[in-house]
Amino acid sequence: MFSINENYLKLNESYLFSTIESKVNGFTRNHPQADIIRLGIGDVTLPLPPSVIAALHKAVDEMADKSTFHGYGPEQGYAFLRETIAKNDFIDRGLDIAADEIFISDGAKSDTGNIGDILGDANVIGITDPVYPVYLDTNIMRILQSSITSSKILFLTCSEENKFLPELPPKRVDVIYLCYPNNPSGTVMTRAQLKKWVDYALENESLILFDAAYEAYITEDDIPHSIFEIEGAKSCAIEFRSFSKNAGFTGLRCSYTVVPKALKTVTSTKKEVSLNALWRRRQSTKFNGTAYIIQRAAEAVYSPEGRKEVRSMVDYYMQNAAIIREGLAEKGWTVFGGVNAPYIWLKCPDTTDSWAFFDRLLQECHIVGTPGVGFGLKGEGYFRLTAFNSHEKTLEAVQRIKNWKQ
Ligand code: PLP
Repeated sequence: MFSINENYLKLNESYLFSTIESKVNGFTRNHPQADIIRLGIGDVTLPLPPSVIAALHKAVDEMADKSTFHGYGPEQGYAFLRETIAKNDFIDRGLDIAADEIFISDGAKSDTGNIGDILGDANVIGITDPVYPVYLDTNIMRILQSSITSSKILFLTCSEENKFLPELPPKRVDVIYLCYPNNPSGTVMTRAQLKKWVDYALENESLILFDAAYEAYITEDDIPHSIFEIEGAKSCAIEFRSFSKNAGFTGLRCSYTVVPKALKTVTSTKKEVSLNALWRRRQSTKFNGTAYIIQRAAEAVYSPEGRKEVRSMVDYYMQNAAIIREGLAEKGWTVFGGVNAPYIWLKCPDTTDSWAFFDRLLQECHIVGTPGVGFGLKGEGYFRLTAFNSHEKTLEAVQRIKNWKQ
């Protein structure tokens, strides 16, 4: 008989949000009148900005005309988008990143999940706990496959004691996943804090996989928007960005990954290799590019109008974040995040069982959130609420929580 990749059997049986969905569906079946407010999944709710919609329409029309039709595009993305990104997100901010270091993709989820394709199995991988589950699950899918003994995952604890920011690993790690602003804890690293990680990586010849999907939500100074703001990062880091959370592309799908040409390692035979070249090879073999119309839509995000529209969407969600953060703090709950991120991470009041808290919040307040344990064992006892609902629903949810007699 044929065999399967049995690593998949080592994963949690169902993806976190499917479990939440089935619990919510069960509840609504029994309580069809309940007005459920969803502050669970990190999906945006505002429609796409007008400039993006206009660019989509225009690109669709181009596809209808033989002279402007686009078939397969370059696997790493069209030059018009890569150049626009390089200029706006990096060069204009004083960072030396070129268009050929940028790879357009259909999501930071795909890229953070697929990046392991170009990494060796023997690497020791540092992953924060709690964490965006994709980093861990894709490593379980991949690494255990060859030899569980030759590969290790080192969990970097994030807890109230360290303000949900990991300490440098107690032993050497080869690859480190960092995500700031953080999902789920909503925390950020200052320049000085991120510099410690870059220095660690340079000293240990390690690789940092930096997920900056929430960069647009940074409101405070001294918080880096890109790891490449830190000196030396081009020799030790790959950065993942997404149009999902800033411009509402969760349904359109567009993101990009920066793999600097300065990022190199050596093979077992001491041959120098460029990760930029490896990732290009991987993408051109396994990916046929993001749709032309979607790349034109992403380009529109950088137009003067697009920028304003995106800013006001992010501001809208950040007002929700403030409503949740301040409302829960007034109730006396311990809250983290929500200042530079659309996530509020709270300590479950009166329980250390985050699924029990999920059930009570659903049954008694009709509010859906995400249990911290879904992001890792160290997330147990905590709970994530998102700022992605409307002002009205967010205000209503906070009022329900304030009135809640626990
Ligand atoms: N990275 C983090 C930390 C996320 O929280 C998410 C989505 O919630 C993603 C990546 C996925 O982004 P995309 O929609 O670009 O796949």
